[in-house]
Amino acid sequence: MKITVLAGDGIGVEVTREAVKVLSAVAKIYDLEIELDEQLIGGAAISATGAAFPDETKESCLKADAVLLGAVGAPEFDHLLPEKRPEIGLLQLRQALGGFANLRPSKAFPALIDSSPLRREIFEGTDLLIVRELLGGLYFGQPRAIGETEAFNTMRYSVAEVERVARVAFESARNRKGKVTSVDKANVLETSRLWRETVEKVAKDYPEIELEHLFVDACAMHLVTNPTRFDVVLTENLFGDILSDEAAVLTGSLGMLASATVGGAIDLFEPVHGSAPDIAGKNIANPLGAIASVAMLLRYTAKNTEAAAAIENAIDKVLAEGYRTIDISNDKENFARTDEIGALVAKYAVEFASVRSNSQAV
Ligand code: NAD
Repeated sequence: MKITVLAGDGIGVEVTREAVKVLSAVAKIYDLEIELDEQLIGGAAISATGAAFPDETKESCLKADAVLLGAVGAPEFDHLLPEKRPEIGLLQLRQALGGFANLRPSKAFPALIDSSPLRREIFEGTDLLIVRELLGGLYFGQPRAIGETEAFNTMRYSVAEVERVARVAFESARNRKGKVTSVDKANVLETSRLWRETVEKVAKDYPEIELEHLFVDACAMHLVTNPTRFDVVLTENLFGDILSDEAAVLTGSLGMLASATVGGAIDLFEPVHGSAPDIAGKNIANPLGAIASVAMLLRYTAKNTEAAAAIENAIDKVLAEGYRTIDISNDKENFARTDEIGALVAKYAVEFASVRSNSQAV
């Protein structure tokens, strides 16, 4: 498997180093042949080549099976026009890869439940995945315009666009708890009625998966009052943008969260956080979001559920043993460093993976 690694800027470099450490350790146990190609993106790429997404980086990505991204953005470029800044590299990357489904898991880590803004009894047991349509809807619909006295945007979806993202949600539910909640506003919007009809049709191919429909306002409410009722939440672009941030904040830390963008020519995996210039270069960033992104890569691109689970179990174990980076530690004097967490997850992931492969050999 060819993976292009784009560490980017700030803590992107530090967390990606740990993610690669974990990936390489687990790959060895499972005899996965992994070829890593490190390339530049963002501010680092502008400094070296003048472009935020250089041709060489693009070529490497387009030849890869998956791209692992850290984060982009650095304060020294903040004075530049938006089209010259590091963040434009991210948009160009996403465009080049063409993924239409953004997947964001959100889960209650047993050891971190008290960091959630929700009460323990509400949040405990939460383990959900938001599947957000990424290339359609209000953000891309034409026509769009702004005038002196009015402005408008267009919400538009085709059956094909809904169908392909619905399939990603149903396939994901197969490997999880077997339930899809499709979120729309079908009582008001025609696009939502088409959405609902199309999801119903796709559901016929997945008789073992339970399907429910929720209006987006009800979904927003259930996310904070009863998040354990969800497994896979399937929704369109705008609703997904809002709901995935709402679901993210429930977990108590930005540094823990992974994401995947799939369905295009090449899959993209990245933590949801940015380059965090305020803590960059200090070896204190939380690498677990980046490491969990590697687990998603193994699950979605390599289709190796066991290797993914070995990493996820290792993350749980590290947290259960009390290791915390400063963002999730109650003790701001004594806390684990970025590289320490990476090394521990790698060690435990190898242990979990070895137990599995040995028991299979027996
Ligand atoms: P940010 O996510 O970088 O940081 C927000 C806050 O969360 C900061 O206080 C930071 O220290 C903390 N934080 C984030 N990740 C953490 C981690 N892994 N461990 C510990 N603490 C963590 O968002 P921001 O400050 O709004 O943006 C900083 C830069 O990152 C900007 O240039 C922005 O454009 C860029 N950005 C990039 C991406 C991306 O590459 N996908 C996403 C968001 C922001």
